[in-house]
Amino acid sequence: MEIITHRPEEECGIFGIFNHPEAANLTYLGLYALQHRGQEACGIVSSDGTNLYSHKSMGLVADVFGNQDVFKYIPGQAAIGHVRYSTAGESVIKNVQPIMVNYSRGSIAVAHNGNIVNAQFIKDELEAWGSIFQTTMDTEIIVHLLAASKASSLLERITDAMNRIKGAYCLLFLTETRMVAARDPHGFRPLCLGKLGGSYVVASESCALDLIEAEFIREIEPGEIIVVDKNGINSYFPLRKVEPTPCIFEFVYFARPDSFIFGKNVYQVRKELGRQLAREHRVEADIVIPVPDSGVPAALGYAEESGLRFELGLIRNHYVGRTFIEPQQSIRHFGVKIKLNPVHETLKDKRVVIIDDSIVRGTTSRKIVKMVRNAGAKEVHVRISSPPTSYPCYYGIDTPNRKELISSSHTIEEIRKYITADSLGYLSREGLLNAVGSENSSYCHACFTGGYPVKFPMLGPEPQLGLFEKE
Ligand code: AMP
Repeated sequence: MEIITHRPEEECGIFGIFNHPEAANLTYLGLYALQHRGQEACGIVSSDGTNLYSHKSMGLVADVFGNQDVFKYIPGQAAIGHVRYSTAGESVIKNVQPIMVNYSRGSIAVAHNGNIVNAQFIKDELEAWGSIFQTTMDTEIIVHLLAASKASSLLERITDAMNRIKGAYCLLFLTETRMVAARDPHGFRPLCLGKLGGSYVVASESCALDLIEAEFIREIEPGEIIVVDKNGINSYFPLRKVEPTPCIFEFVYFARPDSFIFGKNVYQVRKELGRQLAREHRVEADIVIPVPDSGVPAALGYAEESGLRFELGLIRNHYVGRTFIEPQQSIRHFGVKIKLNPVHETLKDKRVVIIDDSIVRGTTSRKIVKMVRNAGAKEVHVRISSPPTSYPCYYGIDTPNRKELISSSHTIEEIRKYITADSLGYLSREGLLNAVGSENSSYCHACFTGGYPVKFPMLGPEPQLGLFEKE
């Protein structure tokens, strides 16, 4: 994650495998399955038991690793990999992960998904002690903390580092002889453990295990550190326990629907969000259409519950990345058109319910409503399978600052007018919590409520990243 002074923009995926003759190749496939978590850059670091090797670059997984020749340069039986999305200004090769360093105890590589909220504070302190940073990523802080730790074992050094950093992080470390996976005590981001024959596999989402036909063992627990070496795996819980607060937005939008995260299948949760939405915001209409792909499961749930016909009224070009992931507003405007095209024959003279997972700035919905109307729809009703996104995320989901979030400053009626819909309905907060089954765990829903589970001081109207004090 990048150290910036206004807000984080990081969505990442991590994958690692230990004890497999084709470690880097399988990591490549794992990253392929996690491409939705970051499309800007990717990298793999491998180990042959003696040395670490790295290959990383800007670009999609297929572009960076599509040429089989690169695997000659990342040999060995263990590998970790990373897919990354970051801010436009810092889309530079030096910030591509995994980060690999040599220090007094050998070599180590680290891949990180999430966002460390006290990064700048620690960085300032480390720099005052003479540390020199090569990247602008908060992930590098972890490496410096490891190097600075006086502890004798790797596990203790990682624990020391984890005791200093606050926020959201899933980490994968690789040394010459070990792979270590760690999840922050709040468990913001998903991380799971699998097995493929005699190899252990770690991935942000279970869909990556499915692709390589690894068996899903379990999720890595919040606050857990798993050390994998030639003797097998060991699990540790060295940190102070806190109440886990996994990110509810992973269910709403971010994770892939075929993944199993936080104890549930994402597709089933999304369908239930749609059913609940239909119970809360029924409307007389002819058809229900999703905004593909993110709105599909919720639209199926909505159609099922309301008895309305499910149709595909918008077709997505699958060779275009997630709209939101385009860095500039100008490109984002353009992006909706490149990405979606209406099916006139489906929409003509129909009263249409459009289902999407969220409205962030309102740009996408506005374009889509116009598109559907221009295709001949008689009425356009927009239904959103989550509550209004009114607060920025500081734990690793790319949401803009408050000013840009349309629902932070507009009523639902104002948003309806802006997107030019005949009606607009958001899922209620209670509806969301019921649908994800919050009875057994509390989720982080700061983006909807502003209740941030990991605190930082307010420095003006919005928390300023990079200027946090120690808790
Ligand atoms: P906007 O045009 O800014 O209102 O963006 C809304 C669209 O972005 C919806 O279709 C969502 O599926 C999608 N979206 C919501 N959150 C994110 C995110 N963090 N990253 C990428 N896309 C997102």
